Amino acid sequence: MDDNNNNNNDIIKNDDNNKYEDICYMCRRPESQAGRLLKMAGSFCVCADCMQKTFNLMNAGDIPGFPMDGNKNNQNPLGPNPFGFNLGFMGDIPKSQRLKKKPAPEEARDNAEEAETVLDFRRLPPPHKIKESLDEYVIGQEKAKKVISVAVYNHYKRVTKDASGDIEIGKSNMLMIGPTGCGKTYLVQTLARILNVPLAITDATSLTEAGYIGDDVESVLSKLLMAADNDVERAETGIVFIDEIDKIAKKKNTTSRDVSGESVQQGLLRILEGAEVQVPVGATSKNAMVPMTTMNTRNILFICGGAFPELDKIIKKRLLTGSGIGFNSVLSDKYDEEDVLSHVSNEDLRDFGMIPEFIGRLPVVYTLTGLDKSMLVKIMSEPKNAILKQYQKLLALDDVDLLFDDDALEAIAEKALAKETGARGLRSIIEEFMLDIMYEIPKDRSIGRVTITRDYIESKGGPRIELHGSVPVIPQMSEGALS
Ligand code: ADP
Repeated sequence: MDDNNNNNNDIIKNDDNNKYEDICYMCRRPESQAGRLLKMAGSFCVCADCMQKTFNLMNAGDIPGFPMDGNKNNQNPLGPNPFGFNLGFMGDIPKSQRLKKKPAPEEARDNAEEAETVLDFRRLPPPHKIKESLDEYVIGQEKAKKVISVAVYNHYKRVTKDASGDIEIGKSNMLMIGPTGCGKTYLVQTLARILNVPLAITDATSLTEAGYIGDDVESVLSKLLMAADNDVERAETGIVFIDEIDKIAKKKNTTSRDVSGESVQQGLLRILEGAEVQVPVGATSKNAMVPMTTMNTRNILFICGGAFPELDKIIKKRLLTGSGIGFNSVLSDKYDEEDVLSHVSNEDLRDFGMIPEFIGRLPVVYTLTGLDKSMLVKIMSEPKNAILKQYQKLLALDDVDLLFDDDALEAIAEKALAKETGARGLRSIIEEFMLDIMYEIPKDRSIGRVTITRDYIESKGGPRIELHGSVPVIPQMSEGALS
């Protein structure tokens, strides 16, 4: 990602120049919008409109230094370009503002094969394959993985097959509800990687109604375009994840205009459904110097996620009203134990503050459960790129085995649970105690194995140290050095 951003700030190099559309150096419109451009020396291009405007100005004598403005010195103010005035101040146009050219059909097919994209229906993996891939990375959340696999499969089936059918398949935009740190963003990130589609992650709290301070809703599409390396066609089949969607619930008891709540929901309606939207290229806000392009959002998959605090109370209230007197307390206990969020209905979301039209455009709603101790232990150790595996690999490069006692893992999970930030807390806890290990171990080349114990996690003792080719010995490092 970073790599992309860096590259995007570069000026396009000669060798990939023909992958990008030419752009008018004056009005900054790409050739697909401004019409055929006049190309001049030094990759300088200008569109017919700007050319005309320039000639009009010249004729009117409005360009200082140009012979027709009455320059009697007879100096030659003509720069290297035939206009006679220096357009160099406009600078070169950065790559981030250039649109990728549409490839010729055969080239598009070749590119697709090269990138092993699955957006070809014949290659689109069936839902159980998508879920299997998700299982490698995402722990638990079985229901969510199943729902997302089916929804995504249907969505891309619709994208690749729709044109030939007469029955329009509806869009499967989704709403994910689950506490913080339970894997909502991670699930979407993993999905986009498996499917090799561009992904934009954005925060609903940064959006405001057009004209107010903050990002317009179109900015989410600009981000997607950037993630697709300015390739409009690829971006038009990407995924947009809008996090913290619960924060744009309609404000209750407010008399002022709700520019970051209800208005944002209204603004999003159009792009969620499918519309032609004018999007700034290489920037998240529109201004005169940023080129614009049109994006069709019909095939973009929108996934919204949020923790929806207090939604459980709304659901519980609805579930309890209507049940006979006397049963209430029994039901109340029942709902305390089980996951109330999974009973969510559109009515509850409306009560929470989401407008009906908005909910209507997110037909697939599902919940993720909070992570318990055993799930946290698995998250640390089981996924393909689990954080503990990463440390093991790092130490293996120094010829040291890194092991974890089972109850050490539980102790880490307990600490993370106490933080109430889901799996997010794990990394900081692990990094904290691994710092000393990573610092001390390379000092002594005779160390062959380090075992992390519960005592070490709880700062009551040190890790178990074994030397190369020996039985366990007394720890080489003082407790102080490691705790
Ligand atoms: P949120 O639900 O708030 O969007 P994230 O998806 O950002 O939470 O989770 C934070 C981090 O925790 C992720 O980057 C991932 O490493 C880890 N994580 C969370 N849930 C899971 C899970 N179910 N399986 C594996 N890793 C997870």
